[in-house]
Amino acid sequence: MAEQKTVKEAERAVVIGGGAAGMFTALHLARRGFEVVLLEHNEKLGKKLFITGKGRCNFTNDCDRDTFFSSVISNPRFLYGAYSRFTAQDAILFFENADLDVKRERGGRMFPASDHAYDVIDALKREMKRAGVRVHLHAHAEEILTNEGRAVGVCYTVHGGAERRSTERKYLDAERIVVATGGMSYPSTGSTGDGYAMSARLGHGIVPPRPSLVPLLCTETDTAALKGLSLRNVSLRLYTEERLLFEDFGEMLFTGDGISGPLVLSASAYLKDAVFDNGKTYVLIDLKSAIPEEELDARLVRLLSATQAKTVRNALRELLPASLFDPVFRRAGVDPDKKAGMVSAEDRHAILRTLKGFRIAVSGRGSFAQAVITQGGVDVRGVDPKTMESRIVKGLYFAGEVLDLDAKTGGFNLQIAWSTAYTAAQA
Ligand SMILES: Cc1cc2nc3c(=O)[nH]c(=O)nc-3n(C[C@H](O)[C@H](O)[C@H](O)COP(=O)(O)OP(=O)(O)OC[C@H]3O[C@@H](n4cnc5c(N)ncnc54)[C@H](O)[C@@H]3O)c2cc1C
Repeated sequence: MAEQKTVKEAERAVVIGGGAAGMFTALHLARRGFEVVLLEHNEKLGKKLFITGKGRCNFTNDCDRDTFFSSVISNPRFLYGAYSRFTAQDAILFFENADLDVKRERGGRMFPASDHAYDVIDALKREMKRAGVRVHLHAHAEEILTNEGRAVGVCYTVHGGAERRSTERKYLDAERIVVATGGMSYPSTGSTGDGYAMSARLGHGIVPPRPSLVPLLCTETDTAALKGLSLRNVSLRLYTEERLLFEDFGEMLFTGDGISGPLVLSASAYLKDAVFDNGKTYVLIDLKSAIPEEELDARLVRLLSATQAKTVRNALRELLPASLFDPVFRRAGVDPDKKAGMVSAEDRHAILRTLKGFRIAVSGRGSFAQAVITQGGVDVRGVDPKTMESRIVKGLYFAGEVLDLDAKTGGFNLQIAWSTAYTAAQA
């Protein structure tokens, strides 16, 4: 963590968005001596943080630099400077110093020891209060005001009165404005993509936002019947137009209209230029990834010859969950009610190929309402990576998911929020 500089006179900074990045920027600006106003349109701060990590908040990943950068999907190079300034280890130290007990879990994932995300939010709120940040809730930022290429203030509306129906328009002058409005995923948490429109009006390019770390949609009727089936220890390969986009091993589940689970969410992050029509994008699931192909073939031979009078369905019962039989045999082109003794070598190879590569066509991504993260956002080419300052409007900064930055699951997305927020505050 670089040394903090303080400002000579109390300049005002307005931070738009009271999520992870906004709170972190606000408290570091206030620690540097800025008079800081944090605008949040919700009734409380950190609504999305509250649901992170299934309510436990995986706030960073205690990994080395290479692991961090290999986990960032969009624009890792843009983050080189910001991450050097504020690493995962700095984030851990920050929260420990903020009186949060933390713990390390599988794969370096860091959580509050209490397993409660609100303890992370409380730590941030405590530090903001200590530093003197003024928080305005129900304050919906509408527009960033500029004068001769400099940010000079924010126009916002305050929602109040019964059922928040009345609105009052207000203006705040500021020397520094930070846009930390997040992406568009889980819009019920307040992240509705407002920062994109505000930034675009000032000339910033916006990389089209897309849901990511999201379930995948499939229109095949036989997989719809598998709703609720979850598979462990499978490996999944994702292809578009015969190009391999992603390959990994883990857990997945059938949702009725598609597939989900940790493995599938990770795969979705690699769909950037995927073509969905005519089954051009598909996954191949190795249903028996722990068994090498020759070994599995030998097992098929054994099972089929031991029970020649039984149907294939019965002979191979131990290999698969019952609900998978029909979809597997349909793909293999073998009648599961055929007698095991009648199965040809060709049939057996078709079954083997399907067990090692169960194909499902992907017809699209799930919605923003289901997405952990937004891919796309404010184009980083318009932002100075050393300071997070706009290259178009002086005094305007960005932090967090509003930028075209995203990473895999595992605490990396919140680390992006901390690193960019810290950099914007130190600029
Ligand atoms: C279900 C779920 C689980 C997740 N779990 C993890 C996890 O465990 N670990 C991890 O690293 N990442 C996780 N993420 C991702 C992580 O939550 C985000 O990357 C992170 O919250 C981004 O922080 P942010 O401050 O940039 O945006 P946000 O947290 O989205 O905050 C933006 C804030 O701006 C406010 N706002 C928006 N527009 C305006 C406006 N016009 N005026 C005023 N306020 C405005 C919003 O109300 C919001 O409070 C998860 C995401 C989801 C959806």
